Amino acid sequence: MLENKNPSKTSISSLGEFALIDHLTKAFNLTQKSSVLGIGDDAAILDLSQGKTVVSTDLLIEGVHFDLSYMPLKHLGYKAVMVNLSDIYAMNAQPTQITISLAVSNRFTLEALDELYAGILLGCKNHKVDLVGGDTSSSTSGLTLSVTAIGNVKEEKISRRSGAKENDLLVVSGDLGGAYSGLQILEREKAVFKVNPNNQPDLSNYAYSIERQLKPEARKDVIELLKELDVTPSSMIDISDGLSSEILHLSKASQVGFHLFEEKLPIDHEVIKICEEFKLNTTTAVLNGGEDYELLFTVAQKEFDKIKNHPLLSIIGHACDLGGGCQLINGLGQQIELTAQGWQSFDEA
Ligand code: ADP
Ligand code: MG
Repeated sequence: MLENKNPSKTSISSLGEFALIDHLTKAFNLTQKSSVLGIGDDAAILDLSQGKTVVSTDLLIEGVHFDLSYMPLKHLGYKAVMVNLSDIYAMNAQPTQITISLAVSNRFTLEALDELYAGILLGCKNHKVDLVGGDTSSSTSGLTLSVTAIGNVKEEKISRRSGAKENDLLVVSGDLGGAYSGLQILEREKAVFKVNPNNQPDLSNYAYSIERQLKPEARKDVIELLKELDVTPSSMIDISDGLSSEILHLSKASQVGFHLFEEKLPIDHEVIKICEEFKLNTTTAVLNGGEDYELLFTVAQKEFDKIKNHPLLSIIGHACDLGGGCQLINGLGQQIELTAQGWQSFDEA
């Protein structure tokens, strides 16, 4: 599909590196006060004199982190930006700039890279972030993308992983398990398509979960809400690997244990239906399915009134002493220890 077998498509080698960079980046404008100089010189110039600067970087490799047989390139561009902005939001910071580095094989046409950059541009616009640089290289196979995100935060507002205290409430934004259940559907349709390429699946019943997988949204709105509510999380992390593993990260960094209540987990009804269809345990999918890019954080008990009953937020547990470890508590009051691959121990329990 992406190979340049179609003569109406433009091969990237026909442009040369500099024309390619100009072409891909011409639609990007600078909007942030701290962006003094963007693309075009040997380095960008940023004025980071206000507050603290946070920096995060991520590598996305074809065949490891994404599969182009069901991931449209525009979505990949958008997702690459989102996964990085999510890390910046998880520090309670506002993202301001990104850089994008790209290694691309000659099976990609200019039109394919235009799609990728259309997704990157949309991500930048939606989150008011400036693209200020990057690097472009050829690759012998496939596509590799590296995104670096820079953000800004007042020192007293920073939420590290290490700040949770005993008795703090454990809170998560949005709902969980959607990206994982969407992936199950996409993998199944890929397998069906291999057998019968004429099959036109009706995926409308799975739209929410597929969107959660293909078009995740970094939770800028949650960071803005916390500011409005005047709540600074004592610790925070974004959910890229799965709830279980992120709780363990908070536990280790903060030296506290956690109690997590199964009945409090926010799950969309579509996710429950997909888990039934695939004979998966819903709690297992929520604990271990990654890529939801929701925010998981702790707040002091005194903040309870500010966050209770908010539709974007669910209180799912609390921090306790480290000695008790991290426990999932089910409807019968039984405790099941969380592990990084929680589904094994969960299924055995
Ligand atoms: P250098 O040879 O000094 O590394 P390049 O020719 O690679 O410079 O880059 C020229 C300019 O274009 C720089 O500002 C760089 O940050 C930017 N740039 C290069 N590749 C990309 C890309 N894929 N996306 C955005 N900006 C890029
Ligand atoms: Mg370069």
